[in-house]
Amino acid sequence: MATTTPAPSIPKKRDYPVGIALLLIHIGALGVFLPMFFSWSAVGVAVVFYILTGGGITLAYHRLLTHRSLVVPKPVEYALTIVGVLALQGGPIEWVAQHRAHHAHTDKDGDPHNSHRGMPWAHIEWLFRTNQDRVAPEDRARWAPDLVKDPGMRFIEKYNVLMTVALAVVFLLVGGWSWVIWGIFARLVFTYHCTWLVNSASHAVGYQTYRTGDRSTNSWWVALLTFGEGWHNNHHAFPFSARHGLRWFEFDLTWLTIKTMAWLKLASNVKLPSHDMMERLKVNSNSTRNAA
Ligand SMILES: [Zn+2]
Ligand SMILES: [Zn+2]
Repeated sequence: MATTTPAPSIPKKRDYPVGIALLLIHIGALGVFLPMFFSWSAVGVAVVFYILTGGGITLAYHRLLTHRSLVVPKPVEYALTIVGVLALQGGPIEWVAQHRAHHAHTDKDGDPHNSHRGMPWAHIEWLFRTNQDRVAPEDRARWAPDLVKDPGMRFIEKYNVLMTVALAVVFLLVGGWSWVIWGIFARLVFTYHCTWLVNSASHAVGYQTYRTGDRSTNSWWVALLTFGEGWHNNHHAFPFSARHGLRWFEFDLTWLTIKTMAWLKLASNVKLPSHDMMERLKVNSNSTRNAA
């Protein structure tokens, strides 16, 4: 196991708006336990939008915008980003800035969700507790200059919450409250925890294939829930790679989607690590961590 470092003292102040919003969304999701809100069409909408918006986070926010692992035509980039926006994880500029800081300072001071502060911190607390390692709004341009320069991305950033509200209104008009409870609240909560597991579980349980100098791990069950993002040790070893599941059994649905897009000529410059790069970084078999 990696050694733990003392956590810097955290001021008492909290980010109340984010904390309250997360609390209300979780309370809304409890509606799935009330039979009056159940309908099979609502369950179907929730599943479809979990796949779409979870995929939007992994493909657009993460592999395309944060790491530039592939290039797509600009209209496709905007469309995929808007799909990711509907996961209500913040605008693309903020998300990319936090995630680039995570890669620059993984599991050290400066990492917004440093896993040495414990699973609850890495999973959720970093979002609403006062967090000196979280990239401040005025620093986003330093971490994501490519996105800040893009007027389309600035527009999407500005209206990101409104887009999810608009989707909720459409659901209400078409399918009633059952679609809102299942397709918005429950689906958001499920997708949140799947994404957050990459920051918590995939820095704690699983195995390490590569020497990354951090706590990142490969975890099959996180990868299944997040369409390939759970192969997180591979990702920290080769952040530029469009493919995260690097061994034959490491199923990576996002990579299969990118391959299909490349075949359809919708994606180009798809980046992958070379065989030599992978061999050089491999850990020896003795240092493989406990399998999850
Ligand atoms: Zn990580
Ligand atoms: Zn990343």
